[in-house]
Amino acid sequence: MNNLYDIPLDELTALLSTWNEPGFRARQIYSHLYKKLATDPRTMTDLSTGLRERLAAETTIGTLRLIREQTADGGLTRKVLWALEGNAVIETVLMIYPPDRATVCVSTQAGCAMGCVFCATGKMGLLRNVSSGEILEQVLYFERYLRENAPSLEQQRRKPIPNHITNLVFMGMGEPFANYDRWWEAVQRLNDKQGFNLGARNMTVSTVGLVKGIRRLADEPMQVNLAVSLHAPNDALRSSLMPVNDRFNIADLMDAVRYYTDKTHRRVSFEYVLLEGKNDTPAVAVELAALVKGMLCHVNLIPWNPVPGMPLTRSHRERVTAFQQVVQAAGISCTVRVERGIEIAAACGQLAAVPTATEMIGLQPI
Ligand code: SAH
Ligand code: SF4
Repeated sequence: MNNLYDIPLDELTALLSTWNEPGFRARQIYSHLYKKLATDPRTMTDLSTGLRERLAAETTIGTLRLIREQTADGGLTRKVLWALEGNAVIETVLMIYPPDRATVCVSTQAGCAMGCVFCATGKMGLLRNVSSGEILEQVLYFERYLRENAPSLEQQRRKPIPNHITNLVFMGMGEPFANYDRWWEAVQRLNDKQGFNLGARNMTVSTVGLVKGIRRLADEPMQVNLAVSLHAPNDALRSSLMPVNDRFNIADLMDAVRYYTDKTHRRVSFEYVLLEGKNDTPAVAVELAALVKGMLCHVNLIPWNPVPGMPLTRSHRERVTAFQQVVQAAGISCTVRVERGIEIAAACGQLAAVPTATEMIGLQPI
């Protein structure tokens, strides 16, 4: 059965013309899906009864099955575990920042093939790619949640809460550039004025450093922000943390990033996970500063979020501050990311989508 979220507007128009429906019907349905957030074609009352019935019989609106929802930070962080068709699992996180920001962290793959040694998703291996419709559905779920719940959250907390998503980060499970086509299709419908209508500047994609993807993004017409997971300033150290560095080393990566900044004039964020005793010494900070000096960039330090069973340690506060000071002293903009949802394993790199035994029963095909 066709999942309507998987179909771009032109293909929907083509499908409906085979049903002898006029072209504007597709735009009406599109607006129901992405603006009114309809979940049932029977609510699309500006369509004929016949068309509504046919849509209900021959298409679905979404395919994700909600397995579990957890909250932290007094309800300002929410994590959902989803089952995809075929029973792969992914997670999505909403982070509300009163008064006016709400960010959704989206998964682009179930698992990940890149095997970074510090990442829970990497431990799973790759189960499968997420489709464009499945990417969209993660976003629309939380948009619906905010529309419905912002007023009551506001009352509870006595401060303003945004009633819509303001930012998207493609930093959940998976490597977006390893699923570039489907990811980009979703970005287009999210950005489309007739679709979800979120500005490309409010979206950020994070890559492990797939240089073809970085160059491809640089050549796209839409200005999505780029974050690059660097984590080490030399090849020996980076390869020990990230196997991808053996395919695309730091010199290749920096060339691609320069291509992106030259082409777009947009600042790149280098993400840098701090692991005690591995990549967090003052000497390494000096090396990092020298590597990125003169680039149109910002460095974002992320004290490592614990993953059970990994023989690694989160850098202590003083080491983080010392590292930041060295980078800043070289004239480079550098911040420390304040993490959300560590206690519900919703923070960067903690998404492992592990269902409990009881939840597994719900995952069995009926
Ligand atoms: N695959 C992409 C995007 C998802 S990971 C990428 O690697 O960039 C999002 C960010 O979280 C990346 O910068 C990643 O390196 C970082 N990360 C992974 N595991 C982490 C952990 N345990 N603690 C903190 N950050 C982590
Ligand atoms: Fe994959 Fe990113 Fe995790 Fe590396 S950090 S294993 S690329 S999700």
